[in-house]
Amino acid sequence: MTPQSEDFSAWYNELVIKAQLVDRGPVRGTMVIRPYGYRIWELLQADLDRRIKEAGHDNACFPMFIPESYLRREAEHVEGFSPELAVVTVAGGKELEEPLVVRPTSETVIGEYMAKWIESHRDLPLLLNQWANVVRWEMRPRMFLRTTEFLWQEGHTAHIDEADAMRETMWALDAYASLARDLAAMPVVPGEKTPGERFAGAVRTYTIEGMMRDGRALQAGTSHYLGTNFAKAFEIQYQDEAGKLALAHTTSWGMSTRMIGGVIMTHGDDNGLVLPPRMAPHQVVIVPIGRKEQGEATAAEARRLGAAIKAMGIRVHVDDNRPQLSPGFKFNDWEMRGVPIRLEIGPRDLEAGVATLVRRLPTVEGQGKEPIPLERVPEVMPGILADFQSFLLARAETFRNDNTRAVDTWDDFGAQVAGGWALAFHCGRTECEDDIKADTAATPRCIPADGPAEEGACVKCGLPSAYGKRVIFGKAY
Ligand code: AMP
Repeated sequence: MTPQSEDFSAWYNELVIKAQLVDRGPVRGTMVIRPYGYRIWELLQADLDRRIKEAGHDNACFPMFIPESYLRREAEHVEGFSPELAVVTVAGGKELEEPLVVRPTSETVIGEYMAKWIESHRDLPLLLNQWANVVRWEMRPRMFLRTTEFLWQEGHTAHIDEADAMRETMWALDAYASLARDLAAMPVVPGEKTPGERFAGAVRTYTIEGMMRDGRALQAGTSHYLGTNFAKAFEIQYQDEAGKLALAHTTSWGMSTRMIGGVIMTHGDDNGLVLPPRMAPHQVVIVPIGRKEQGEATAAEARRLGAAIKAMGIRVHVDDNRPQLSPGFKFNDWEMRGVPIRLEIGPRDLEAGVATLVRRLPTVEGQGKEPIPLERVPEVMPGILADFQSFLLARAETFRNDNTRAVDTWDDFGAQVAGGWALAFHCGRTECEDDIKADTAATPRCIPADGPAEEGACVKCGLPSAYGKRVIFGKAY
């Protein structure tokens, strides 16, 4: 595998295939998600679905074909999405009267039904979510990060007024930030997008941004306050308490399979994936060692230990089914596939009544292999996994902080965004953002929610800053 330091992109592209997360799809920009990759998605999905339901949303499923005329009803929306649309014009052997868009996102079709289902203020808020695949014809596709077809959830909600819709918008942003930290060990920065980076049709767009190990940014989830834009276009109205008709305020928010790419690039190294335990298909792998009778004895012990660890609610895999492969090969293989904890049981371990524990990365300096008495392994494992999870989050946070700097001159800005994030003042003009992008390839990632109040001159053009705080700039995926 190409080392990260030599060519980070090549490292990533090779690893996703080698670790059996995905295979290339038959159509450019598509991917086949293999069972190991899909399991990671399922773990994310289960956690996010729980959060969504606990906050009162219901899942529903809308059609994947959307009449083209629906998209046209919201001018900015159709303008933003037009270049990325896949359109069906022939079906059942006949030219269709109206072309059908394969959903790139579902504000329009869901808006149409919200209008039908909402009559009175008592019907609000309407809190919907959909787990689906969507299609955006991406020009620069990358596995997980930007595929033409991807899996996601899209929340769509309607509210009585701006205040309630904004509460919802911020709820979703916070849910994404918490999930990224708790599950993916990604210390993301939540914040608002600048107008130039807004979702097509939104009044305000919020994002969580993570720093990858090459210093680039990844937008890992977005939450939009749509104002009454879609309510106007689809006549999502309700009768208020006085009996007068009013427009609903809507939101939408999405997180996708891109998150898996985020996990790979936040934690991975030259030996392969490093999976946070809470997103790892196998949290622990047990490799029995030895041939013939010795091998049988260690394999039997590995299976017994596996069952005891599983009983603790831990995802464990016993690698006892590949006698043709050497232990060394298996160790490297599980390391490459990012398994947090490996337990080796050889004849000598068995004799000593221990299993040899190896972490995917040392959590303290100088840490190496560690013998643990067999009977104690199940009880210590939850703590070891939790420590490994915290270690990854802390390591990623340190990395991000070390590679983020406040800059006030254009020279410093260029140097900083070459390998990290710059905190800089900006005038808020989209033309100025475009100039910065043309010169450095960096874009405003977000106006960080917890950035301290500060004023200064735009790092590019010198006009007064627009946001009352510094903006995060970086090159993005
Ligand atoms: P959006 O509807 O554009 O706000 O997108 C919602 C989220 O989906 C984004 O924050 C991304 O994380 C993700 N996303 C957007 N486009 C793609 C894509 N082509 N492939 C994978 N994920 C995507």
